[in-house]
Amino acid sequence: MRPRSIQFRLTIWYASVLAAALGLFSAMIWLSLRQQLVNDLDRELAASATRFRSYFLREAAMESGHHLKSELEEFSQALPPTSYLELRGPQGFEFHYPERGRPTMHIREIGQSFPMAQDNFQLLVGASTESIYRTLELLRLLLVALIPAVIAIACLGGAWLSRRALRPVDEITSTARTIGIENLSQRLPVPETGDELQRLTEVWNSMLQRLEAAVKTLSQFAADASHELRTPLAVIRTSAELALRRARSPESYRESLAEIEAEAQRMTQLVEDLLFLARNSASTEGMAMQTVYPCDIVRSVAAELRELAALRNIEVQLSLSDRGIALSGNAPALRRLVLALLDNALKYSRPSGKVVVSLTARAELVTIAVRDFGIGIPAGDLPHIFQRFYRADKARSEGGYGLGLSLAATIAQLHGAAIDAQSTEGEGSLFTVAFPSRQVRVAA
Ligand code: ADP
Repeated sequence: MRPRSIQFRLTIWYASVLAAALGLFSAMIWLSLRQQLVNDLDRELAASATRFRSYFLREAAMESGHHLKSELEEFSQALPPTSYLELRGPQGFEFHYPERGRPTMHIREIGQSFPMAQDNFQLLVGASTESIYRTLELLRLLLVALIPAVIAIACLGGAWLSRRALRPVDEITSTARTIGIENLSQRLPVPETGDELQRLTEVWNSMLQRLEAAVKTLSQFAADASHELRTPLAVIRTSAELALRRARSPESYRESLAEIEAEAQRMTQLVEDLLFLARNSASTEGMAMQTVYPCDIVRSVAAELRELAALRNIEVQLSLSDRGIALSGNAPALRRLVLALLDNALKYSRPSGKVVVSLTARAELVTIAVRDFGIGIPAGDLPHIFQRFYRADKARSEGGYGLGLSLAATIAQLHGAAIDAQSTEGEGSLFTVAFPSRQVRVAA
């Protein structure tokens, strides 16, 4: 047993408490037994004194001298065996029982004085307490011998019990030692005891489950990211290879370089999004929050996308109720969120359509809504569109990587906002982001 183990400490504590309790208990028993025995003896002595006195008073009235003493002697023989008795009276009257006088040590006696005729008599009745102390000594020896034995048995029992109770800990420890990132699917053995250990292992197992899921998501993310990066890289490479295969006209080179530039730009955006997700999907740490004005953000994103909208002949309507609305947030992140929503609305609108972006502050909730009247999202896809790399229908998808909405959802979450999508296939979609009241600050 290791001295710092719970088992050892439990046993020591248990033994100490038991020793203290037994010690106190024994002392109380010993003291109260002594008190009881002494009280009994005192009562007996008092009764003997009373009986002797009334006998004496009766006999003295009839007898005297030598006769009286032998009568008293006869009476005294009926007293308890270890008792003795002395009576002194006037003119040197003395009576002793037994003749050899009182024993010297360990006695208990009571004295009485009583009158007879004009004289005063002194009576002393006593007894040896030898037997009382012999009994008490026997009890003391018994207790002194038994208490350590009881404690030793209790310690052994306690150690056995605690070893039994803590045995699962060793199993858990040795299993936990073997669990690493490569075998996160392993679980700790759960002792079916219904006790703290069972709860502890269950909590550990559910933690392992969450870790496993998180690691799975991360490695899936890494795999998807590499996969997604391969496509633009391949496009860039083949464009360059084709251009270099033989001498071409300057226009042809320009065309290839423009293709490469466009692809590199898309790739930059993808890498930036991936970096953002990798850095911020866990916490707001490292994301500076300031007072931001969502109106300004929506306006500038709309301006940024004006060209794209014009290209497809789509009208972007802004309905921004109050310029003064302020939020506590991260401006670049919020820009990215609005960009993702508005970009999608434009991408999935039909040519010559309309997109409405509105900003409202109602019931202490700031809501940004992006509505389009485009192709909509099939009901079966709607629950998944916020997942990383999810694209509803690869054929319909407008060349995105399926990261925009998951980025938007992450940013919303980091701002404590709720993001929601409603859509009817063929009719259009409505995306809303509602920032809770505590985030709202009205600018001075
Ligand atoms: P992507 O880069 O492919 O647009 P997103 O994460 O932004 O990725 O969106 C995921 C998928 O959700 C898209 O592939 C598209 O199918 C669907 N989607 C998103 N927004 C809209 C919208 N406004 N209208 C129709 N479909 C949309």
